[in-house]
Amino acid sequence: MPPNTTREPLFAQLSSYHSRQKAARSMAFFQPARAIQRLTGAVFPALLLALCTNPGAAQQIDILDSGGPLSPERAAFDVHFYDIDLSVDPSTRSIEGSAATFAELVSPLRYLVLDLDTVFTITGVKSEPEGTPLRWEREDGRIRIDLGSEKPAGSQVGARVMYRGKPRVAPNAPWDGGFVWARTPSGQPWIATAVQGHGQDLFWPGKDHVSDKPDSVSIRVRVPEPLVVASNGALRGVESHADGTRSYHWFVSTPISAYNVALNIAPYREIRDSFISVSGDTVPVSFFVLPEDEARGREILPEFINHVRFHEKYLGPYPFRADKYGVVQTPHLGMEHQTIIAYGARFDRGAMTGGLDWGFDALHHHELSHEWWGNLVTNADWKDMWLQEGFATYMQALYAGELGGADQYLAYMVSNRGGFANRQPVAPRETRTAQEIYFDSGSDIYGKGAWVLHTLRHMIGDDAFFRALRRMAYPDPALEAITDGGQTRFATTDDFLHIAEEESGKELGWFFEVYLRQPALPVLNAERAGDQIILSWDVPGGLPFPMPVDVEVDGEVHSLSFPAGGAVRIELPGAGDLVLDPDVWVLRANQAPIVLPASR
Ligand SMILES: [Zn+2]
Repeated sequence: MPPNTTREPLFAQLSSYHSRQKAARSMAFFQPARAIQRLTGAVFPALLLALCTNPGAAQQIDILDSGGPLSPERAAFDVHFYDIDLSVDPSTRSIEGSAATFAELVSPLRYLVLDLDTVFTITGVKSEPEGTPLRWEREDGRIRIDLGSEKPAGSQVGARVMYRGKPRVAPNAPWDGGFVWARTPSGQPWIATAVQGHGQDLFWPGKDHVSDKPDSVSIRVRVPEPLVVASNGALRGVESHADGTRSYHWFVSTPISAYNVALNIAPYREIRDSFISVSGDTVPVSFFVLPEDEARGREILPEFINHVRFHEKYLGPYPFRADKYGVVQTPHLGMEHQTIIAYGARFDRGAMTGGLDWGFDALHHHELSHEWWGNLVTNADWKDMWLQEGFATYMQALYAGELGGADQYLAYMVSNRGGFANRQPVAPRETRTAQEIYFDSGSDIYGKGAWVLHTLRHMIGDDAFFRALRRMAYPDPALEAITDGGQTRFATTDDFLHIAEEESGKELGWFFEVYLRQPALPVLNAERAGDQIILSWDVPGGLPFPMPVDVEVDGEVHSLSFPAGGAVRIELPGAGDLVLDPDVWVLRANQAPIVLPASR
């Protein structure tokens, strides 16, 4: 999901520091002053604190939220396959059809509990594959299906739910999701779904929990001609019916998060291409565009494919080579829908970055990053969502650096430094629902998460950092050759801690504790009295924090190490002005470089 942003001036302290210093600074290999100065005339983006207080009744939260504690009845089964078969009627804004869940029981179970929004009418439930009618009842957003008797662990169970109704209209897709019923410039229906924050149960019945991915999904969708359905996976076929409708049959051959299953419907034109992955595989590419935008689509597609190559260089092969690399033009800004990325930036490079053009389409880049951070590597609980959003945000900074050099990298990071809520940890240890992590964090999982990676990179060095990044994507090089779904996995923040420790040879528990497991930022204190410099860290809760800091003395940058929890006292007779953390590598509450003028 893209960050939900508003644009307001921010971080004046840092940018004005660089403006003042730009003439005076002798430049090391970085020239952040210049990079940042270039932006001071523009407006820095700030992440909107879009606090969702969910004032409605408790049962409403249940239906509209996703993830959180996994109840025993839902932990009792592991979904292997979903079979979705829907008709979409744009004239009545309604859907009708069925969806079947095929699962293996991991503990004995009598009642199979699935989630489906209460706006739908259920017309029946039957067993799969037998087709025997099953008894069922509804409890708010849940369907409790009687399997007839308690089935032992290891049983294969299947249930198909028939239903119809008008799905919830998205109030503000993709952040507040549902169905989007828009019109193309020529007045044709343009329909999309975006349900990450609320779960797949906004339009089809299944297990609304991020910890359970099916191994594969079949998606059949029937729409009036000349509409085209662009969805996940590979197209198996299109069937025309006598009543002027067509059915599109898509099949996803790899594990996929239920929230990633997406319908995109419009009179699309499909632009086809292919690329050769670093794995050696030739990967089919499909970009579904509105007819009005076909020329612009053809023009931008090579840039999109360059984004794929960039990610492959740092993270390993594009993970879903067996299906396709797909992009579809959507009326909402964007979403990481696996193999069919929602692209709603309208060919405006600054659509996701407050109008700032960083030389690439940042929205596409962000959603593509999720094919690795989110779809290949998935948080099993939304508490670890920064592994998806923070890592994906950091990839845009790396790409800005790839195109524009180190100063551009730092400028991109600075543009994401601000508006941190610091209300809850970036990676809390306790379970979180999608709504809780997304809104209660004040979007810290994006910018603050990316800054944690920025600081880690400086501390452990580029070699260890980039090895850790790649190992987080593919822990074993053998996985880079697999395309049948075995390459995907669930990951936690501690997995990344262990990988970063192994690659750097450093103990990093203190770093993760301060930056990810508690909300407040450390403060760097500095005093100068004559030749004496005294530095110390103020750390929330007095946690150990031996974070080294760069010191620029007479134009040379040195790294200064700190003992855990201690202060540093150094003597620098005759030194000129000192600047602490001149290139703002270290995430802290007082983020601007600290200037200690020479005593006169
Ligand atoms: Zn995102």
